[in-house]
Amino acid sequence: MSILEQGFDQIKREYIFPIIEKKLIESQKQDLLNLGIGDVALPLIEPAATAFIQAIHAMQERPIGYPPAHGDQALKEAIFNLYYKGYNLDVSDIFISDGINSDLGNLQELVSADATFGLHEPSYPVPFDVCLMAGRKEHLTILSTDGSTCFLPHPPKQKIDVMYLCSPNNPSGTAMDYQLCQAWVHWANQHHSILIIDQAYADFIQDSNIPKSIYEIEGAKTCAIELRSFSKSAGFTGLRCSYSVVPSTLKHPLKPLWAKRMATKSNGVSFPVQKAALAALTPQGLEASWLQVKHYLTMAEKLSTALQKAGLTTWGAHNAPYVFVKCPEGLSSWDFFDFLLNELSIISVPGCGFGPSGEGYLRLSGFITEKTCNEAIERLNSPTFLKLQNTSCV
Ligand code: PLP
Repeated sequence: MSILEQGFDQIKREYIFPIIEKKLIESQKQDLLNLGIGDVALPLIEPAATAFIQAIHAMQERPIGYPPAHGDQALKEAIFNLYYKGYNLDVSDIFISDGINSDLGNLQELVSADATFGLHEPSYPVPFDVCLMAGRKEHLTILSTDGSTCFLPHPPKQKIDVMYLCSPNNPSGTAMDYQLCQAWVHWANQHHSILIIDQAYADFIQDSNIPKSIYEIEGAKTCAIELRSFSKSAGFTGLRCSYSVVPSTLKHPLKPLWAKRMATKSNGVSFPVQKAALAALTPQGLEASWLQVKHYLTMAEKLSTALQKAGLTTWGAHNAPYVFVKCPEGLSSWDFFDFLLNELSIISVPGCGFGPSGEGYLRLSGFITEKTCNEAIERLNSPTFLKLQNTSCV
C-alpha cells in the first residue's frame, strides 16, 4: 500500500505552463513577446533594495537571529497604520508571511477535516489545488462564473464553512464592489462561515466603488481573513513577503490557532526581507510602488484598448494588471492561444487554465515593459489580427 497522500494525485488539472513551454519550443519562434507572465517585469523598488542591503550589512556587524514568528513589530505597525486603522482591528491581528500562496494552503490546517470549503472559477488555481492536496475534494463546492457577472461569484444559497474569494480576480482582472462584498459578508455571518480573501492585487484598485479592504464592510471583522502581498506592487516576487489579517473578533476563534501554528511551524520571515518590506511602506517606498502599479495598469489598459479596437470583448485592466479577453467566435482558449503564438508570436495564457469556465477566454498580462507593450500593440493592429474577427465590441 502506498504511504503517499492521495490528495496530491487528485490534481488532474492540465498543467498549463508545461504545455505552453512545449508549444513555445515547437513553434521555434525567435521574436516572441511574453504577455502570459504573472511575474514582475520591473526591478525591486529602490527603497526596498537599499533597506535590504543595509540589513545584510547590519547582520555582518552584529548577530541578528531568529525574527519574531508573527512578524517584526515595526512592520506590523506600519501595515496597521497605513491600511487597517479605523476598523477596530489590532496590530496583533496582522501576521507576516513569506507569500500569499503559503497562507492560502496553511490556513487549511486550522480547520477540521470534515469542514466544507468553497471557491470560485475561473480564478487563481491555488485554493483548488490546496483543497485537493488536503484531501478535501468531497467537501468542496465550486462556484462557476461567467462574463455576465464579470467573473465574480455571488453567495450561494447553501452554507459553506470556508469560502475562498479572490478580488481583484486573477485572471479576469475584475473586482468585487461594495455591494457584492457586503453580500458575501452578510452571507458569511448568517451561515457562521469564514471568508478567506486573496487580495494580491489590492494596490491596483482604482475604481471608487471597489473597497480596498474587506474590513471597510460592516460585519467583516467577525467573518473575514484578508491576505495581501508585497509581490506585485513592490517587485517582491523574488524576495517573498506578505501578510494575513486574522481578527481576534472572528466568530470562529482562528487567531490563537494561527498564532500557534506560526510559532510552531515557522521561525518567521527573514530580517532583511522584513526590513525591505518596511521600506516599501515609507513615503518613498509607496511612491515607487505606485509608479510600478501605474506602469502595469497602463500596459494592461493599452492591451485592452488594442483588443477592443479589433472588435474583441475584454474585462479587467482597471483594478488589476490583467486583461481577460473573449476568444473570437468559434475559437477555443487553446485555438486562440495557438493563433496568437503562430501568427503574431505572442504568448498568452488560455483561460481554461483557471478553471473550466475560463474556456473560451484568454488572459494577457500587463506585467511587461513598455517596449514589449508597444511591439505587442503593433502586432495586434496588424491586418493578420484585425481580419480574425469582425464582431462588435462591448
Ligand atoms: N494570489 C493571486 C491571485 C496571484 O495572482 C498570485 C500570484 O500570481 C499570488 C496570490 C501569489 O502571491 P505571493 O507572491 O504573495 O505568494
